[in-house]
Amino acid sequence: MAKKKKGKKKKNNFIQRMVLRRRKMKKKKKRNKSRGFGKVILLLILLIAGVLFLKRNSLILMFKGYSGEDRKVILEMDKEDIKDYIDYDGVIDLSKWNKYDNQKHYYDYDYYEKVAYNNEEENVIEYVDSYYKQKETLEGLGYSRDYCRTQMKTFNADDFEYIAEKGIDYNTALPYLEVNGAQAQDLNKYIKSQKEPKEAVISITYDFIDSQNNTDYDYLINEPDNLDILVKTGFVLSSNYEPKDLVTVDVWRDSESTNIKLRKVAAQNLEKMAEEAEKEDLYLGIRSGYRSYEDQEKVYNEYISLYGYDYAITMVAVPGSSEHQLGYGVDITSLSVINEEVETFGDTAEYLWVIKNAHKYGFILRYPEDKTELTGTMNEPWHFRYVGKDIATECYKNNWTLEEYVQKHGFNTTLTKLEE
Ligand code: ZN
Repeated sequence: MAKKKKGKKKKNNFIQRMVLRRRKMKKKKKRNKSRGFGKVILLLILLIAGVLFLKRNSLILMFKGYSGEDRKVILEMDKEDIKDYIDYDGVIDLSKWNKYDNQKHYYDYDYYEKVAYNNEEENVIEYVDSYYKQKETLEGLGYSRDYCRTQMKTFNADDFEYIAEKGIDYNTALPYLEVNGAQAQDLNKYIKSQKEPKEAVISITYDFIDSQNNTDYDYLINEPDNLDILVKTGFVLSSNYEPKDLVTVDVWRDSESTNIKLRKVAAQNLEKMAEEAEKEDLYLGIRSGYRSYEDQEKVYNEYISLYGYDYAITMVAVPGSSEHQLGYGVDITSLSVINEEVETFGDTAEYLWVIKNAHKYGFILRYPEDKTELTGTMNEPWHFRYVGKDIATECYKNNWTLEEYVQKHGFNTTLTKLEE
């Protein structure tokens, strides 16, 4: 019995094993099947990732908003150009520039249009394309494209050409080009002079700071919002420059006064100065503050028709070269002059007080009697200039005009030589 039982058991065991084996096989098959399926999916994912990777630039440009046609144009460019469009925050309107003949440097057109003083579209294209003609040579001399872009605000197209033609390398030029007001086309003169860069720039390009020396050129002030900006013959403001924070000055005024605004900080300090003077029974007023380019043009033309050109230009600034357009130049008067008790501000007790105290409020007497050769402007006891307390005090203590201050410290703005 036991033997029989044993045999049955063996048989049963055998069947069980078979069943288990089959189940295992089935599972294995299933597993193999699902493994194969996973591989296909993985491959697909890789394939899609690959396509996405290869097409990533096109996709980024698409999400930025470039049309299919524009994407095609951009993707045909050099790698470094494509990167410009990828990294740029906005969308550049390619079609805008295609009304003109151009070399497809859209990114730079867009950039230069924002920083150029002459941003007519045709000028922008001509400028950028002419830079690209020199690009390789300039890179060979060490001027990267990024550096050249930063210089576009101040450089003329001729400046790139000059550096490339003369083969002046970046390391030699940089100490000079870093000086505010440096002019590329004077680089060889700077280098030859062996002067300190700041001194070289001031004495070689801008010897006409001293009005006894003439200039044939005008230099455009690129950062007119800065404080100690020298504005005079040769140093001009753009015709559309207008300070953003002009406010009416609350001091005594002429019934005829129309231009009684100054930049906020200058207005506040003039009011403070008038308050302080009043404690000594002196009453300050304003005759003329901010004048727009057009206002100055009117005054200028009026003087020319009254006195003739030669005499007029010694009395009134050429439009664009008046401190009144800065919003920091002011003609001060007094109540006694307004009431016609005294003829001119220079003869008042107020004047004597102001020339001693103006620097405490950031003002300097801009055209003193004994410095007319330097300033190029006749004695104007009424005309004061706001430069801030520190600079005003330094000028007062050293008996300097703004010209002398700039000769000592350099410019607080870059300057672009205007083509005639
Ligand atoms: Zn004035």
